[in-house]
Amino acid sequence: LIQLYIPLNFLGVMYREIRQALTDIERMFGLLKTNREVEDKPDARDLPEGPLGVRFASVDFHYEAKRQILFGVDIDVPAGRTVAVVGHSGSGKSTLARLLFRFYDVSGGRLEIGGQDIRNIRQHSLRRAIGIVPQDTVLFNDTIRYNIEYGRPGASQSEIEAAARAAQLHDFVARLPDGYETRVGERGLKLSGGEKQRVAIARALLKNPPILIFDEATSALDSKTEQAIQAQLEAAARGRTAIVIAHRLSTVMNADEILVLDGGRVVERGQHAALLSRDGAYASMWALQQREAAEQAA
Ligand code: ATP
Repeated sequence: LIQLYIPLNFLGVMYREIRQALTDIERMFGLLKTNREVEDKPDARDLPEGPLGVRFASVDFHYEAKRQILFGVDIDVPAGRTVAVVGHSGSGKSTLARLLFRFYDVSGGRLEIGGQDIRNIRQHSLRRAIGIVPQDTVLFNDTIRYNIEYGRPGASQSEIEAAARAAQLHDFVARLPDGYETRVGERGLKLSGGEKQRVAIARALLKNPPILIFDEATSALDSKTEQAIQAQLEAAARGRTAIVIAHRLSTVMNADEILVLDGGRVVERGQHAALLSRDGAYASMWALQQREAAEQAA
């Protein structure tokens, strides 16, 4: 058995090393502001300071020519509002976020921020305007302070603390013997999924972007954690234009508008109560999740 264990253990170490290397590469891309898919136009402009609305106008998109992913998607998020996108796995939700960051250009229609087609905006300015709380936050093998400060390198300790407080992370950090200097990640303190997400929220809040994308984790959470995340999300979205990519419908009940995406098409839109009374796709997703929650609780 020991003969089997040693190579397996070695593989585990290798895996962690490779993952960290990938994180570092991701960071490097961020720092170098490189983009492999699209380029700035010579006359591209910066976004203005202040609140910015987001609009998808009849957006079509394919990664590969033979397989279209989005079909005539219309989304309007006025400045300061929250729009939630729900839909089954593979319906195209995360693709919307990738387009907003302009990792790819739309195949048809247009995507606007602050009323400007994003193809006319300098990418540096575009990415500075958008913060993302990803599904699975990969932390750097470094201190909690470093992991938050990454949102805005050079931020002061009091700014870092303020972001951590807003993300409901500060009290947890303050109780650790080394506080903000605690090392986390694969070689340090292992944080739970909820704690990692709070680091990601603090990072995004420190960046202080006018637009926030919240890509909710798919993993099942107990209802207490779910409520805590719901509260954090609402705090993070306050005063910003927010797009919430949601897997749990309970997270999006208070959104200004909810869109149901199915096979790359918006099939329903409206507020929670109105969508329930329509008795369509949203209502059946809701009924299913309620049943699952009741089964889990039993
Ligand atoms: P989930 O809820 O599982 O995260 P999603 O609704 O966010 O799913 P997307 O990640 O937007 O779905 O993917 C939509 C479709 O696009 C999927 O069918 C997926 O296979 C395809 N897709 C995603 N990324 C690529 C890529 N880089 N190249 C080709 N196809 C892709």
